Formats: sequence, C-alpha cells, structure tokens
Amino acid sequence: MLLVLNSGSSTIKFEIFATPEIGSVASGIVERIGEAKGRLELRCGGAKMTEKSAAANHREALELVFEALREAGVLGGGIECLGVGHRIVHGGESFSEPVVVSKAVIDKIKKAAPLAPLHNPAAVEGIKAAGQVLPDVPQVAVFDTAFHQTMPPRAYRYALPAWCYRKHAIRRYGMHGTSHAYVARRAARQLRKPLEELKLITLHLGNGASVAAIDGGECVDTSMGLTPLEGLVMGTRSGDLDPAIPMFLIRETGRTAEDIDRLLNKESGLKGLCGENDVRGIVQKAEAGNEAAELALDIFCYRIRKYIGAYLAALGGADAVVFTAGIGENSAVVRSRTVRGLEQLGIVFDEDRNLEAGRREFSFHADESNVRLLVVATSEERAIAEATWELVGD
Ligand code: AMP
Repeated sequence: MLLVLNSGSSTIKFEIFATPEIGSVASGIVERIGEAKGRLELRCGGAKMTEKSAAANHREALELVFEALREAGVLGGGIECLGVGHRIVHGGESFSEPVVVSKAVIDKIKKAAPLAPLHNPAAVEGIKAAGQVLPDVPQVAVFDTAFHQTMPPRAYRYALPAWCYRKHAIRRYGMHGTSHAYVARRAARQLRKPLEELKLITLHLGNGASVAAIDGGECVDTSMGLTPLEGLVMGTRSGDLDPAIPMFLIRETGRTAEDIDRLLNKESGLKGLCGENDVRGIVQKAEAGNEAAELALDIFCYRIRKYIGAYLAALGGADAVVFTAGIGENSAVVRSRTVRGLEQLGIVFDEDRNLEAGRREFSFHADESNVRLLVVATSEERAIAEATWELVGD
C-alpha cells in the first residue's frame, strides 16, 4: 500500500491506497499537533472513528496514525507501506515533476519556503516524520506548482522591474497543478483522444479556485500567481483586483500589511461579498431573493466566464472546458451561469444534461457545441498516489 500525506503546521491529513490499482482504503486527519488536546479521525470501510490523542510533533502524530491503521487491520499481517507521497505546496522553479525525496530535494523545498511560509516548513516536518517512522520506505514529493512550470515567460512574468524576478523570484507559479494535470488526463480519456492532441481549459472550483489553459498536456497559463490569491473569486480570497487597493486601504484605514493580507485571503471572496463561503448556502439564499448572495454568485460566475474567454484566446480555441472540485462537480447552478451566453465562442450547453446528477463524470454540452463541456471528479490524493507508485513501484 501507499501512504499519501498532506502536512500542515498543526495537522496531518492522510490517505492510504492499495497498489497497484490505486484504490483508496482509508483516510483521516490528525489535528492540533503540538497541543494538549489533539484529535485523530480515521475513515475506513464506511466506518468513522474519532479519538482524543495528543501528539507533541509530526512524528508522534504519524505514529498515532500507524497504530490506528494496525488496529483497524489496514496495516500489518503482511501488508506493508511501499511508498509515501507528500503534497508539497511550493516547488519554486526547482521542480517541474514529482521527485523521489533526497537531502537535496529537502533543501530545495526549504529554499522555496519564503514563497509558501505556512506550508513548506510543515511539509518538511511531514517528510522528516515519515523518515523516522518508516526509515526504509521511499518518499516522493509532489508539488502543487510543478505542472505549471511549462508556462512561457509571457504568462509567468509580471510587468515589474526585472530585479523583482531576479532577486526575489517574483513571478506567477500557479497552484492546484496536481488537480489540473489529473483532470486533464481523465478528460482525455472521456474524450477518447490522446492528451497531446487536445486543448483544454480546466476549472478547479473548490473553496480555493483556479483555471488552467492546457495545450497538448502542457500548461500554458493559469490564474493563480505568486500566491493562491490571484485569479478567480474564491471562498474567502478576493482573486484579481487593482494592485493599488492594498496601499489605498493601508493609507485610508491605518491597517497594517498583515491586516490587509488577512482581509484579502480570509475575509474576502464569496464570504466578503455575502457573509458565507459555501456555495450550497449561497445558491439557496440567492434563490430566496437575498441580494448579496445573488451578487456574490453573479461575480463568482462572471469572473470564471472572463477567464474562459481569455484562455480561449490564449489557446486559440479549445476542445473542452472541464469542471472539477467541490463546486465544479456539484453545482449545476454555477456551471450553467458560467457558460450561458457563450454560443458565439462555440460553447453551447444543454441544461437537461447539466442537471443530470448522480454521476461523477459526465458531459453537458449540446450536440452542436464546438467546445465540449465536461465534469470530472478530481482527487489530488489519488494523483499523488499514482505519481508515487510510478516512481517507487516495481
Ligand atoms: P473543495 O475545496 O473542492 O472541497 O470544495 C469545497 C466547496 O465545494 C464548498 O465550500 C462548497 O462551496 C462546494 N460544494 C460542495 N458540495 C456542493 C454542492 N452539492 N453544491 C454546491 N456546492 C458544493
């Protein structure tokens, strides 16, 4: 089996996959690492187990996970861990694909820490912990940024003085790369065409949201930038705005840079517009006549539609637009409001097909549409397991 870890500063999310067919066997989370009142949750075979269990550090947290997995019969009895795959948020310019972890790799992840100060140090903790608990098991690092490294300079450079890039590596990196790459592969399968022959626009619409323009399997542009703040309107992030606004707010309100950082990342987006960041609740309120919810939904879908137009231009047309993640997979309202009125661009949707629920993968374009509209279920954990198996499986 394979273990996939997503390490935060005080949490470890984990999922266990059977090999070689890469099916999920168990998953869970350890929370409040480093605190007296910790908690472990394990989901396995339809059952959910929660227990209070304090872990002083990531190593202890991982030991708790293994103990629980043995008790649940997922591990032991001849079943062993063959590889550990880690989700790493930022690979800077050093990584354009998953790699087997070595000391040099850890050093580069640390070097990219200024670009993801909350996430990369936590990922290094996760790698160290796995090395201690499973000393002989190979580890693989899978980067959120890696898939976007094929972007050309015209897409990744900002029009700032060149020293900003040279000295501080300020450029667009993009995130959600593992998900964009995964759904692009699945979309190609759904379309029964080689990925190399396809132009795709992938919409990862979850609490965080981003778009990618993919030509022949390679990312040529994406909406997130130096950080995940750029691009689409998200649950609590503003996405694109006039870059003068933070300075304006600092001058006018006396807030600090940290205050503005929090405002843009945690208090803006859908939540900032209507007080709520779950699209299910927002759609209900909008349908009941709540104006703020209606406006939030309108701005959210309009921003996505603008990016579809931009990426159709960047790619010179597209074979398909692919919807994925919590909102993309589940919200027929968001899908229809996003692609409505794009007939001139070759996008014609079919509302009956759009409303057809209950399937994880389906298409909802009209027969006459030039551009196919697909819904594909993403799984970053599964993609990480597949990448890990590719590198360390026999
Ligand atoms: P993710 O980050 O991919 O887990 O997506 C989480 C978001 O998906 C939530 O904040 C919701 O807004 C949205 N979501 C999940 N289920 C539904 C649903 N059935 N209808 C609309 N939105 C949903």
